[in-house]
Amino acid sequence: MIELSDVHKSFGKVEVLKGITASVDKGEVVCIIGPSGSGKSTILRCINGLESYDRGTISIEGLRVNRDARSIVAIRTQVSMVFQRFNLFPHRTALDNVIEGPLYVKKEPRAAALERGRALLAQVGLADKADVHPPQLSGGQQQRVAIARALAMQPKAILFDEPTSALDPELVGDVLGVMRKLADDGMTMVVVTHEIGFARDVADRVLFIDGGVIVEQGPAKAVLNQPQHPRTQDFLRRVL
Ligand code: ADP
Ligand code: MG
Repeated sequence: MIELSDVHKSFGKVEVLKGITASVDKGEVVCIIGPSGSGKSTILRCINGLESYDRGTISIEGLRVNRDARSIVAIRTQVSMVFQRFNLFPHRTALDNVIEGPLYVKKEPRAAALERGRALLAQVGLADKADVHPPQLSGGQQQRVAIARALAMQPKAILFDEPTSALDPELVGDVLGVMRKLADDGMTMVVVTHEIGFARDVADRVLFIDGGVIVEQGPAKAVLNQPQHPRTQDFLRRVL
């Protein structure tokens, strides 16, 4: 479903992606782990067109990811992103945040968008929070609204960029629980995370990235329980 082939990306003179080749199958959950600054967010941002890349190709179900306006809209309607810091509109209710994309990007009728928006809030355990504004919600609740908003676009895949890193520890479990259910339901997911336990339980595959290259990848349990590369071993020793 998602294919990256020899993707290079520089910021100024600094090359942050040095030839990333990877693919994600339909229904697969792929976790990306690696140290801070290794290029994990940049990979996600290139996949959904938030960032351009310099060399190589990225495609989503055969559709080439380019940065022209038409291609961007096509990509955004197929791939949703969930950010570390939720990125909700503070002055709109939870429900209005969820239906934003369907209304303005997909031009769905308001009644249909509202109905599905409410169902999605229920799905993430927030049926009673539809009319609440994000600042009145906990971080974990805000992140679940953000996941409902991502789902509202009926995407083919969802990219998560450290979705629980900004949360108080006691709120992490609810968000991971929602993500685990999505995975069980067959959603295609790419998850940048430091939650090694989640990666071990939920991911089909894990990519370990360091210095803009994929140092090691493979089935989640193999990479996380028996890492082959010294850099993976060292990283896991430090985060576990
Ligand atoms: P990670 O998500 O793994 O922590 P990032 O993909 O955010 O890493 O960043 C990789 C490298 O690219 C870092 O050195 C970071 O400072 C740099 N970088 C990221 N975004 C920008 C930007 N917009 N301008 C300049 N440098 C950037
Ligand atoms: Mg990052």
